[in-house]
Amino acid sequence: MAQRKPIVGGNWKMNLHRQDAVALADAVAERFAAGEQVDLFICPAFPYLAHVVEAVERRKNVHVQVGAQDAYDQPEGAYTGEVSLAMLKDVGATVLLVGHSERRHVIGENDLLINRKLRAGLEAGLQVVLCVGETLEQREARQTDAINAGQLAYGLAGVAAEQMADVVIAYEPVWAIGTGKTATPEDAQSAHAAIRRQLAHLFGDQVAGQVRIQYGGSVKPDNAAVLFGQADIDGGLIGGASLKVDDFLAIIDAAK
Ligand code: PEP
Repeated sequence: MAQRKPIVGGNWKMNLHRQDAVALADAVAERFAAGEQVDLFICPAFPYLAHVVEAVERRKNVHVQVGAQDAYDQPEGAYTGEVSLAMLKDVGATVLLVGHSERRHVIGENDLLINRKLRAGLEAGLQVVLCVGETLEQREARQTDAINAGQLAYGLAGVAAEQMADVVIAYEPVWAIGTGKTATPEDAQSAHAAIRRQLAHLFGDQVAGQVRIQYGGSVKPDNAAVLFGQADIDGGLIGGASLKVDDFLAIIDAAK
């Protein structure tokens, strides 16, 4: 069986102003022992990316990667309000989230745009985290695996098998994000296993065995270990709990 290194990410969303973002990044970098056992990234809001990169690098701990919560796929031009991949790289971002449920369901992004962003992110040399997951309505209609399979097929269209080394999947059931409700470990494992089967269908068994699949949705210190202990769960994408240093570090520890 493929050995997959766990990966944990902190998605700070539209939270934390400069001082608090820098202080949290500094505290995480100080206490995260240079990650032999787990990969770690944090995603602050755009205006503070450079400050957070500086804070992490000041600790001489380049093992904490800094990521962007979004990007536009075009290289430059008349796209008011958008941020290019070259700009993100310029300030030190090395990870990119695409398809987060808040971008799909609050902002209204569709699979085609998400696919363009993912491919542009890979071409720019970033590690890209593709978020997928079903709504409550879809779950109740027993469509979880079909929705995930569709979001994977669209999101990863045009991606070569070799490029999958730079792709991480985050399974985040929409109904579990920021709600305090978490999938049971059994349900999460079942969804992750189905995601891996879809990856095998799209890219073959070898690639499917190597791609890391994070779970996201109200992960907390007290549920992280049992979730991360499931065979196809390779760490987590953490929202609310990544804003508190002790909780976030306890979750990182649970992934080791
Ligand atoms: C997220 O934003 O990706 C997330 C999983 O949020 P939370 O942990 O707060 O549910």
